[in-house]
Amino acid sequence: MKADVTVIGAGIIGAQTAVQLAERGLKVLLVDPGPPGGEQAASFGNAAWLSSHSVTPPSAPGIWKQVPRWLSDPLGPLSIRPAYLPKVLPWLLRYLASGSTEEKLRKTASELRSLLKDAPRVHAEVAARAGVPELINAESGLMHVYRDKSGYEADALGWRIRRELGIVCEEIEADELARLQPDLSGDYRFAVNVPEAGQCMNPAAYCAALVDYSQTRGASHVAARAVGFRSEGGKLMAVRTTQGEIACDAAVISCGARSAGLAAEAGDRVPLESERGYHVTVEGGSDLTGPTTSVMVSDRKVVISRLASGVRCAGQVEIASPDASPDWRRAEIIRTHLGAVFPGLDVSEARVWMGLRPSLPDGKPVIAAARGISSVVHCFGHGHVGLVSSARSGLLAAQLVTGETPEIDLTPFAAARFRR
Ligand SMILES: Cc1cc2nc3c(=O)[nH]c(=O)nc-3n(C[C@H](O)[C@H](O)[C@H](O)COP(=O)(O)OP(=O)(O)OC[C@H]3O[C@@H](n4cnc5c(N)ncnc54)[C@H](O)[C@@H]3O)c2cc1C
Repeated sequence: MKADVTVIGAGIIGAQTAVQLAERGLKVLLVDPGPPGGEQAASFGNAAWLSSHSVTPPSAPGIWKQVPRWLSDPLGPLSIRPAYLPKVLPWLLRYLASGSTEEKLRKTASELRSLLKDAPRVHAEVAARAGVPELINAESGLMHVYRDKSGYEADALGWRIRRELGIVCEEIEADELARLQPDLSGDYRFAVNVPEAGQCMNPAAYCAALVDYSQTRGASHVAARAVGFRSEGGKLMAVRTTQGEIACDAAVISCGARSAGLAAEAGDRVPLESERGYHVTVEGGSDLTGPTTSVMVSDRKVVISRLASGVRCAGQVEIASPDASPDWRRAEIIRTHLGAVFPGLDVSEARVWMGLRPSLPDGKPVIAAARGISSVVHCFGHGHVGLVSSARSGLLAAQLVTGETPEIDLTPFAAARFRR
C-alpha cells in the first residue's frame, strides 16, 4: 500500500485531518480497525457540544477539596478504579495541579481559546462542504443550568475568565428559564446562556460523513491497526499496520486515547490517559421531552442534548485502564440524572455507551511535529474538547504536514511541554 499521508485513527480528529489533506490534493489512507466514527471511538458518543467557551481545563483552584466528596457520593461524577490508582497517580497530581491557580487557568484559557474560537462557524463550513449542513447547528447557543444563583457564584472564576476573553454569557433568571426550557425540572432556577456556542446534531454521523467526503476527494479507509513506523535516518518510510506496511511521505497520529505508544516511537513521550465517560440516549423524535437548548447541569456534571435521533445525557469521569471493561453502573447514574432533570422523559428504554476521552493532564492537546521522525505529526489528546476543537485541529495538522504556516501559534500545544 502507498499514500502521500497516512492518517492513523478515524475518529473526529482523523476525519477532519483527512478532509483537509484530501482537499489539498494529497492521497490519504485513513487507518482504523473500526468503522469511522464507530462505537469504539470517543467521537461516536460524546455530548455533541460545540462549546467554543470550554476554555478552562477540567481542574480548578481548590478542586482537590471536592474529590473525596465526589468519590464517596454514589451518584457522584468521578470514580477511580483502585487497582489503577498507583499507575495513574502521577498523572492525577499533574491534572489537579494544572488548574491550581488563577494564573494557570487564565493562561490555559487564552491558549485554548485560540484553538476553539469560531468553532461552530468552522464546523458549519466543513459540514457544508461535506454535504451535511444539517448536522451542525452553529447558532443553537448552549446553556449551563444551576439550582440557584449561589451555584453560579461558586463557578464565578470560570465565568469571569470567559468574559475577559470576550465571550458573551447571558444570565437567565427563574421565570425566563422556565419559559425557555419548559420541560426542565423546577429544581433549576438559574442559568447562563452562551449564544456563540453551537451543537452537532449527530456526532457519529458527522464523523462518518466527513470520511465519506474525504473519500470523494481520493482518500481511502484501511481497516487495520497501526503498530509502528519504519524510518531511515529519521526519515519516515512507512507506517506499519496489522495489514502490512503503508509506504508514505507523512503520517498523522490521531488515534485518540491510544496515541501514546506511537508518539513515543516517533520521539515524544507524553502523559496520555483516558478519562472514560458514559452516555445514555433515549431514542425518538422531536416530540420527546427534553431540552430546547442543550444544557450542562452544573451540580450533576452531565450534559443533556437533543440530537437528531433522541435525547442524550453524557458525563462521568472514570479513571481506569483504557482496556478495563465498562462499569455500567456509571451509565445508570447518568440515567438517574436524566430522569431527574427532565422528569417528563421516560428513561426506562435507553442506549448506553462508554468511550475514552484522550486526556493530557493540562487539558490541552498535542498538535506538533514529532521530534524523532520527520514528517510525523501529532494531533491527539483533545480530552473534553475533541469535538469542538476538531475542525481547527484537522486544519492545523494538515498545515504541519504540508509545511504551510499554521493558522494559530502552536507553542502551547507542543509535545515538548512534557519533556523533563
Ligand atoms: C461522554 C463524553 C462526552 C463528551 N462530550 C464532548 C462534547 O460535548 N464536546 C466535545 O468537544 N468533546 C466531547 N467529548 C470529547 C470528544 O469526544 C473526544 O475528545 C474526541 O472524540 C476525541 O477524538 P479522537 O478522534 O481523538 O479520538 P476517538 O474518537 O477515540 O478516535 C480514535 C480512533 O483511533 C482508532 N485507533 C486506536 N488505535 C489505533 C491504531 N493503533 N491504529 C489505527 N487506529 C487506531 C480507534 O479505533 C478510534 O476509531 C466527550 C467525550 C466523552 C467520552
